[in-house]
Amino acid sequence: SPPPPVPAKYAERFLEDMLSAWCLDVEYTRARGDTLYYTDDDGTERAVTDFVGGFGSLLLGHHHPAVTARMRQLLDGETPVHAQFSLRTQAHQVAARLNEILRREFAGVPDAPAGGYSAVFANSGAEAVEAALKHAELERVNRLAALEEELTARLRATADAVRDGSAVLGARLRTAIGGLAADAPPGVAADALRTALGVRNARALRRPPLFLALTGGFHGKLSGSVQITHNPAFREPFAGLGPRAVFVPADRPAELQRAIARETVNVLDTTTADGVVDLVERPVPVFAAMFVEPVLGEGGVVPLRADDALALRRICASHGIPLVVDEIQTGFGRCGAFFASSLIGLRPDYLTLAKGIGGGIAKSSVLLVRSDRYRPEFELAHSSTYAKDSLSCSVALTVLDLLEADGGQLYERAAERGRAIRSALEEVRKEYPDVVADVRGPGLLLGIEFHDQSDAASPYLRDLARRGHFGFAVSGYLLREHDLRLMPTGSAPHTLRIEPSAGISDARIGHLAGALRDLCGIIRNQDAHLLVRA
Ligand code: PMP
Repeated sequence: SPPPPVPAKYAERFLEDMLSAWCLDVEYTRARGDTLYYTDDDGTERAVTDFVGGFGSLLLGHHHPAVTARMRQLLDGETPVHAQFSLRTQAHQVAARLNEILRREFAGVPDAPAGGYSAVFANSGAEAVEAALKHAELERVNRLAALEEELTARLRATADAVRDGSAVLGARLRTAIGGLAADAPPGVAADALRTALGVRNARALRRPPLFLALTGGFHGKLSGSVQITHNPAFREPFAGLGPRAVFVPADRPAELQRAIARETVNVLDTTTADGVVDLVERPVPVFAAMFVEPVLGEGGVVPLRADDALALRRICASHGIPLVVDEIQTGFGRCGAFFASSLIGLRPDYLTLAKGIGGGIAKSSVLLVRSDRYRPEFELAHSSTYAKDSLSCSVALTVLDLLEADGGQLYERAAERGRAIRSALEEVRKEYPDVVADVRGPGLLLGIEFHDQSDAASPYLRDLARRGHFGFAVSGYLLREHDLRLMPTGSAPHTLRIEPSAGISDARIGHLAGALRDLCGIIRNQDAHLLVRA
């Protein structure tokens, strides 16, 4: 008889095989608050405490009753989800609330835009970053066009003056355009000037854009956003698909200054004084934007220091480069304020939000651009079918209501729960300083970093570490043995992320600390066989 049909698995089967190797192959069937449920091989439902929190989306937990109720009400009310190119009151309301919060949290920070921040909605975090990349490039090409127009007009006027004898080329200029003789006829000098500067400037103005980003930064995996995501494993195969980024370490702002200087190209312009034409070099806007996260989330939960952040901002501002603050993971209250950048006084030119905006249910994101940089024509150049829909915007309004209720107590709660977890993890680190390297992060964006096991005595641990699988393998152990869901950060595999909801209980924190002690004991003793499924 023929073999029974094998159920087909076409949706990322390879990834599932990896999950199985790490003991992370469970299928969750239900979720509420900080708990995910699955049914084990014996048919028993098991409750797992979720410290991953939707990779930073679930400050309110899974299925917060008010969010779920709002979703139900919207569906029952037949809200017009699809109505592109019509008026969208909810989107205006979301943007107005975000502006209110920006004004409040950045009240003491200089350089507020008089007209606030304009909002462009999208569907995912990476897509909001794509919108930022495109908007920044639109700004840059407009600046280039204005510069080109100005240069062309002046070059024509200067060449005309040389031709009619009312001006002559100075010595420096004659050398720069190929060693023109001082007694060259005016017509020849005028033509030489126009050709030399015209050709050189056209080439400089055609330079493709560059972006700046931080070493260890993460901004998404779409063709543009992946170029500014530092992790080479995510970025390098796709380097041909998008603009080039220059990465600089967050804690050495002088490197940013040097990177900008290294890539600077100048156009040649002229000034005329007392009938003598001289040369002036003017920089071309090559860098379209710089992207930073207030805390490198996927990069291992590394907070940006306030003085470094301000130095980066000052350098960017001095070159006219807009600073894009990516709050996709840090924002919506996770770090103890609505905007983590407000805690370090880092005023954004652009700001991206996603994850938390959807309350764990709706897929949505938004790009905010300060009004004095905003290009309204972007709205005709950029759109997406599902973006800015009434469903996700209405859910976002409910999330905003919940976060802002009672004078923003939830932000304080996130900060307080974060301190409670940190001190529990610090205790573990004190007992196992040979295993745990660091505990860090603001509010409920925390990381526990293990010492690198690449040179461990255990061949299994060594191999896991060298392949970058350490974080997944220990997460599998914590799931199987302790009913805890943890995951490493995307680009720092020895750091586990801890991002539960603001409702996380003391009991669950205690459970986490106990499980980590057990894990630390295994690593200290190099008992790697205990990490492998029986
Ligand atoms: N930026 C940051 C800072 C992020 O943490 C993430 C997701 N981890 C993204 C962008 C990409 O968001 P998404 O997965 O929704 O595309």
